[in-house]
Amino acid sequence: YQRIVLAARPRGPVAAENFRLETMPVPQLADGEVLIRNHYLSLDPYMRGRMSKAASYAASQALEETMIGGTVGQVVASRNEFYKVGDYVNGMLGWAEMGVSDGLLLRKLDTTRIPLSAFLGVVGMPGMAAWYGFNQIMEAAAGETIIVSAASGAVGSVVGQLARLRGCRVVGIAGGPEKCGYVVNELGFDACVDYKAGNLEADLAAATPDGVDAIFENVGGACLDAALGRTNAFARVALCGLIGGFNGADMSIKNARALLLNRLTLRGFIITEHMEYWQQGLQELAVLVANRQIKYRESVADGLAAAPEAFMGLLHGRNFGKQLVKLI
Ligand code: NDP
Repeated sequence: YQRIVLAARPRGPVAAENFRLETMPVPQLADGEVLIRNHYLSLDPYMRGRMSKAASYAASQALEETMIGGTVGQVVASRNEFYKVGDYVNGMLGWAEMGVSDGLLLRKLDTTRIPLSAFLGVVGMPGMAAWYGFNQIMEAAAGETIIVSAASGAVGSVVGQLARLRGCRVVGIAGGPEKCGYVVNELGFDACVDYKAGNLEADLAAATPDGVDAIFENVGGACLDAALGRTNAFARVALCGLIGGFNGADMSIKNARALLLNRLTLRGFIITEHMEYWQQGLQELAVLVANRQIKYRESVADGLAAAPEAFMGLLHGRNFGKQLVKLI
């Protein structure tokens, strides 16, 4: 089977030379292990941090080892009594066509009402990040206005739809007219501001005539700055991601004074540190997705060899929806 290893840490932007495709022998199973054929691989912004040596909330990815990553696939051989051949599972088997697990970090998936790939997005880690930030930090009530950046993406699209279901006024920020059109027309946001159009502050002000009561921040920098400039008293900020700075852009904030003047609460979070909410959150999201009350969109790259290019695209906003790699 094939896998992709981290061949070198990036100096500057991620490049093809950072990765290497290798062919490996199919592993022999020990007692308690299962062999899984991966159907989809998830590509996520956090992988950029793991590629660097710099200290972060998680250890960095080791050189010459399989790139880390979430996967969904099917059990093809089992020496574990809890998993049988044919079971669909979610795991962290990385950028590889196959992987071995001792079963501890696997989750069995019911694909009767939800397609397999969705367990990496809307009913997986990104969906949980949206659910947690929205329910546990933003605490937005019906009638309040919220802003969500990277609004067309895996996390942002779910935040906005949860907020619409609650009866909030939802304003997205996204890059380009196509993504903004999708956010309003397909996902049902009340408005979406195209930050690439060059008038972010004025356009965001026009879209939030009553100010904003809660922010879900995925980007940082100019997006967060403009949103802070619109806050009402006692607004809440769920700080989920800072992808805007991944390529070295200026991330400075000039509206930091709003934190004091408007008595804001800002809280960052890492969703894997809140596992106690996952069962409830994933269950709620699964019902909403199965009932088509939450829609989602995917960008699917074909075959393992396409993963590096697709990952670089994700870091430049070339994905449109949850970025996946289809392996079979
Ligand atoms: P998305 O599906 O939203 O894809 C990333 C999007 O970010 C791109 O499509 C692009 O949208 C935008 N983007 C990329 N580069 C830039 C840039 N340089 N400047 C501005 N926007 C950019 O990814 P996810 O939904 O998976 O992740 C969204 C955010 O949530 C990320 O910051 C990620 O790190 C964070 N996250 C945090 C978690 C946590 O536990 N805290 C868990 C999961 C995700 P556009 O074209 O609209 O700019």
